[in-house]
Amino acid sequence: MSKFKAILVEKSGSAQQAVIREFEADDLGSGELADAERVAGDVTVRVTHSSLNYKDALALTGRAPIVRKFPLIPGIDFAGVVETSGSPDFGPGDPVVLTGWGAGESRHGGFAQRARWPADKLVALPPGLSAEQAMSIGTAGLTAMLCVLALERHGLKPANGPAVVTGAAGGVGSVAIALLARRGWKVIASTGRPDETGYLKSLGAEEIVARSELAAPGKPLGKESWGAGVDTVGSTTLANLCARTRYGGAIAACGLAGGMDLPASVAPFILRNVALLGVDSVQAPMPLRVEAWQRLAADLDPQQLASMTRKISLEEVIPTAAELLDGKVRGRIVVEVG
Ligand code: NDP
Repeated sequence: MSKFKAILVEKSGSAQQAVIREFEADDLGSGELADAERVAGDVTVRVTHSSLNYKDALALTGRAPIVRKFPLIPGIDFAGVVETSGSPDFGPGDPVVLTGWGAGESRHGGFAQRARWPADKLVALPPGLSAEQAMSIGTAGLTAMLCVLALERHGLKPANGPAVVTGAAGGVGSVAIALLARRGWKVIASTGRPDETGYLKSLGAEEIVARSELAAPGKPLGKESWGAGVDTVGSTTLANLCARTRYGGAIAACGLAGGMDLPASVAPFILRNVALLGVDSVQAPMPLRVEAWQRLAADLDPQQLASMTRKISLEEVIPTAAELLDGKVRGRIVVEVG
């Protein structure tokens, strides 16, 4: 491939804008795209798929300061095939996936037909998972898996359920429901979109709770309603989740779709032995990533994964970002880059 297409986020004055541009094959690493930190990679990947996540939408619209260097190719994840490699760990033709590590924030990311990264940041795609499926999962799905692993490491099992999932119709929420249900958990899905009830039940949710029920300030300790939870919303919702967790249960917190604050009391922690488990996917250590990708490949039903995924082209990424921030996107969005 002598030329490649990419989205570029540029800044002029205080305003930023996202545009589609074409680059020469060698541009990653020189001229406008030069930057030692961004291109100090030894593996060049022909990117075939990326995905549109909440953080990407913030980066593309500039609604939050996600992009830390300009100009930058956004896209916090990608999957594709190794083109050239200076590392013994990968050879041409190997299918790989990358999430986080600053992609689309401080390093050129996945909204491009080509990427260059250090070998120790790439994960070999588990057998049986295509690049499209890997991005159907993407950062959101990986994060959902990390939440489930955190709950399991805490010793929780389906018998300790039910498990509650907030932001249920979003990317992390959809995958979390499917993963928990698959392992035998009774899942309660919290959504602000009652018209998505059928979709959430098709993923395995048994009960639906209105988003508004958890968004209003509650008591320090509420009725014990669940033994585990995956929270993508934060703020009052997370406080209520903890307040309504059974003795010895845990909530894995990974998101802030409803706010970054946490107006909570310590009551659930000191009176009910509840644990709040923080989950980060960006700097997650490599052995945990490999374990999570293997579990995702084993646990997710390909048809269910397809049912929660919409496919768009690179050209459609910029307009779709606003739609995602307006809470109108269901499940996951795969970007067909190649
Ligand atoms: P999506 O936009 O796909 O989903 C977010 C969902 O949250 C929406 O679909 C909606 O679900 C719900 N929601 C939206 N706005 C509000 C609001 N104001 N109050 C309450 N609920 C709301 O995003 P993702 O699933 O990709 O990401 C979810 C969160 O997780 C984000 O905050 C993201 O930044 C974070 N995240 C964190 C990661 C980490 O490493 N810690 C990695 C990936 C994501 P519904 O319509 O069903 O109510």
